[in-house]
Amino acid sequence: MTGCISAFYRQGSPRHCRYCSDNPKGITSLSPGFGRASGLPWIRMIAFLRWLPRIVVMSTVHVTEPIARLTQYLRGASNILVFTGAGISTGSGIPDFRGPQGVWKRRQPVYYQDFMSSEAARVEHWNYKLEGWPAFRDARPNATHEAIRELERSDKLLMVVTQNIDGLHSKAGTSDARLVELHGANSLVECQTCHQRFDPEPHFDSFRKTRRSPRCHCGGFLKPATISFGQSLRAEDLQRAEQAADAADLVIALGSTLSVYPASEIPLLAARRGVTYAIINRGATEHDDLPEVKLRIEGDVAEILPDAVTAALTCPG
Ligand SMILES: [Zn+2]
Repeated sequence: MTGCISAFYRQGSPRHCRYCSDNPKGITSLSPGFGRASGLPWIRMIAFLRWLPRIVVMSTVHVTEPIARLTQYLRGASNILVFTGAGISTGSGIPDFRGPQGVWKRRQPVYYQDFMSSEAARVEHWNYKLEGWPAFRDARPNATHEAIRELERSDKLLMVVTQNIDGLHSKAGTSDARLVELHGANSLVECQTCHQRFDPEPHFDSFRKTRRSPRCHCGGFLKPATISFGQSLRAEDLQRAEQAADAADLVIALGSTLSVYPASEIPLLAARRGVTYAIINRGATEHDDLPEVKLRIEGDVAEILPDAVTAALTCPG
């Protein structure tokens, strides 16, 4: 028997899901009749206890018609392209680069050409990366990353294309086959000559002691495996992202101002084929006024997406 967990706490109308308006089929109340309908009260009770934390959180959410639409889109799609930006990781302690308190408000980025030609620029870049390394190393995924992982487990996720370099989609369990990190990742360092990749920790230790930019055994410059200003995106990553945009049946942009080219073109490639395009972000985005956008939800992604995914995956289709 299936049922919609959201039905548990819709005030005054427990027979209908507050997210999707569906009849929850078999779940009619919490108590005292909770569990009787199924004839399996202990299974019902275990399921209830498992979901209790989510229920407490969800009960504080003001559910709106746009969130119900998002739930319906998620439920109806089978090849979802999820595009993510820094806004989904601030809840994991990852600094925002472009916001009002963003990193780039107090630091000048080192351009790739300068990194390759100047030891002073390399030291500046490693210094900046060393400053942020503990936060990246210790960051843990939040409910948004986990909700996206659940979409993959439910066989609804085509691809996650992220601008983020924090590696949190991988830490949450999104598979490499379903992930494109367009701007690279801080979790490795890469030789700029032979392109071998290495664990960053010993190289941060070395830099901390010597203040000299680390070198590969081949003599090449080692650099955290992120895309710097002035550095081209990896062609293979762009190709995988574009292929996903060609095949998606729903595209959702999460926590991004959609202002960085060419990354921000990826969701538009799908939307221009007529695919439903939804945006969730706190603050304006560059795509807000485009006719391709079918749904725009203002707010913190972590307070919106996980509950919509839960409802979409739990409610009967
Ligand atoms: Zn090398």
